[in-house]
Amino acid sequence: MAMADMRPPIESGCPDGFQYMHPAMRRNFGLWKYHTDPRPGVLCHVAESGETVYTVKAGTQRILDLFSLRELTSIGDEFADGFIRFTIRSNIEYTVSDEAKVEPLIKALEDKGYVVGGTRNSITTLSHTQGWLHCDIPGTDASGVVKSMMDEFIDEFKSWNMPNRVHLTTSCCQINCGGQGDIAINVQHTKPPKIDHSQVSNVCERPSVVARCPVAAIRPALVDGKPSLEVDEKKCICCGACFPPCPPMMINDAEHSKLAVWVGGNHSNARGKPTFQKLVASAIPNNPPRWPEATAIVKLILKCYKEDARDWERVGEWVERIGWPRFFELTGLPFTKYHIDNWRGARASLNASTHIRF
Ligand code: SF4
Ligand code: SF4
Repeated sequence: MAMADMRPPIESGCPDGFQYMHPAMRRNFGLWKYHTDPRPGVLCHVAESGETVYTVKAGTQRILDLFSLRELTSIGDEFADGFIRFTIRSNIEYTVSDEAKVEPLIKALEDKGYVVGGTRNSITTLSHTQGWLHCDIPGTDASGVVKSMMDEFIDEFKSWNMPNRVHLTTSCCQINCGGQGDIAINVQHTKPPKIDHSQVSNVCERPSVVARCPVAAIRPALVDGKPSLEVDEKKCICCGACFPPCPPMMINDAEHSKLAVWVGGNHSNARGKPTFQKLVASAIPNNPPRWPEATAIVKLILKCYKEDARDWERVGEWVERIGWPRFFELTGLPFTKYHIDNWRGARASLNASTHIRF
């Protein structure tokens, strides 16, 4: 094919967000004077120009069905000049420049069963990763965990009772996206993968999977005269990183893929440094459809945080102030050997670069 006939590349990526912004937001972009919180779920921004803009936030699921989306956009057409936006935690927000429309908009949302809230010192919507719908490696149904937990925390979404904002997250595998929040509920594999040797030569990228193991526990091997793999189970840390490039390394398991709760993560560096979360409860049953054991632990941590934290302390800041021993005393969660990180191989063996290995 001649160069002239080749299809030019299409530059894709995020479109310019300004075209989707409510005109009042566009007009006053970067020119805000102050904002107030008239009630849970509503923000009022006042611009230098004197213009006042209201934002109404409602909890919505991350993966929206067409019916709900049409319903939500119709509400936007009626009350918010046809503009909506979704927050990073998948809540829908409407912008209203006329105060008289705020209460009717809230009523329209509540009449359809949506819950208005999630601002200031509330529990915002638990965010989750893609799960069964998009991804090939989940060990749990992240959306199901979110639904069961948010059913329990709905009053905290609608009110301002927490010491500060609480971000909850759940992540359906142990290694890839998501899973960092004030409190995170993440998958925890507790057994090394079982290898289906009959499939390895068909669907396994063997060089990639050998390179991907963070502790070098995977070796090429001949099994029944065919090229396959073997795992040194003494080294394996059950991370599950081998499963995506090599599905025959089956790590998901109804009994041994558990959940773990981590506390104190923070992406933001606005007031302090970003922080890593720490494991506080491990080997919790991955128990659909309501995950009662994991929910009970998260509720317990939130109860202690609510009773003991100072105003405007985030969960991680609260634990840093009182210390981890006191955290375990207050919550009554057992401190076990699994909470101690004794893995010292990271610096030498962790695949920390983006170079392709063969
Ligand atoms: S957390 Fe893991 S399993 Fe879940 S969507 Fe992300 S990569 Fe896939
Ligand atoms: S689970 Fe993790 S540590 Fe174990 S073999 Fe697979 S990649 Fe290596």
